[in-house]
Amino acid sequence: RSKANAHNGYRVYEEVMSEGFNAYLTLGGGLRKAIEEGQFELYYQPKVRSLDEQTVGAEALIRWHHPEWGMIAPDKFIPIAEESGLILPLGEWVIRRACQQLKIWQEQGLAPISLSVNLSGRQFLQPNLVDVVQQILDETDINPKLLELELTESMLMSDVHGTIKKLHDFREMGVSLSIDDFGTGYSSLAYLKKFPIQALKIDRSFIQDLGIDGEDDAIVKATIAMAQSLNLKVIAEGVENRQQMSLLTDYQCQEVQGYLFAKPMSCTDFEVYLEKFSNSCSDECAIPRVGV
Ligand code: C2E
Ligand code: MG
Ligand code: MG
Ligand code: MG
Repeated sequence: RSKANAHNGYRVYEEVMSEGFNAYLTLGGGLRKAIEEGQFELYYQPKVRSLDEQTVGAEALIRWHHPEWGMIAPDKFIPIAEESGLILPLGEWVIRRACQQLKIWQEQGLAPISLSVNLSGRQFLQPNLVDVVQQILDETDINPKLLELELTESMLMSDVHGTIKKLHDFREMGVSLSIDDFGTGYSSLAYLKKFPIQALKIDRSFIQDLGIDGEDDAIVKATIAMAQSLNLKVIAEGVENRQQMSLLTDYQCQEVQGYLFAKPMSCTDFEVYLEKFSNSCSDECAIPRVGV
């Protein structure tokens, strides 16, 4: 066992991938206690505008600091939280924490950025989700335009009728909606135009071999073109090098996220990063300024 490393949870995480750990997690071990004891933290990964490489937003990504096992990645515990139903209180904690942080940044006078939050399947199906989000917006008193919800194709397609209603409710509240991991699910293009969403996030698996695998180039190019004609913003996930970045700029992908710019960071590290990289944000800022 070793202490969690704030900059790279995954090193630690590989070390603890033992049998005992797997069994512990499978039993839902400690998740409930972890919520009660506040062992969760949000990390923030910048969203960068391709045009000028300005940071215009961030994605909130959950981390679990286990007192014994160290930092545990969401891919490990989110599915277990889903099965046990604990995703509901946990997911609500994530939205509340993200909105509280937006409020703090606003009060600190940091350049307004948008913050996106991932929803899980069961959380999205929760009948009172819209009320929960409205309650949190009222409580924290933030501009709803700064909150973005990331959904996946499978979530949207499981109950299309109910989904469309829910998405419209969110739009009326002013919250933005995007499709995460786009291209890996099975959404139908016929429905895509019916969902009131604002952005597509192209999955990292298509970005990885950009410039190496011609088929990925074709897919990415076509996805961006389609999104543009549907008036959707496109964000590329997992941009790790300059070659990928220059191709994405050529294809007119508006925003990117990836290790090339920054890994997900603790709140403190992200604030330092923001001071450095977004203080020249002018009137042309893609994100509306709070209070204006
Ligand atoms: P995601 O929403 O697609 O988030 C992107 C994941 O890719 C993050 O992993 C991020 O750290 C990683 N990533 C970003 N840039 C790069 C890059 O350049 N290269 C590589 N190799 N990876 C990159 P993370 O934080 O481990 O999260 C994994 C998944 O767990 C997320 O995928 C999301 O589906 C889920 N997740 C994270 N936080 C939450 C949460 O609060 N609620 C729910 N329901 N799911 C969450
Ligand atoms: Mg996401
Ligand atoms: Mg996701
Ligand atoms: Mg993704």
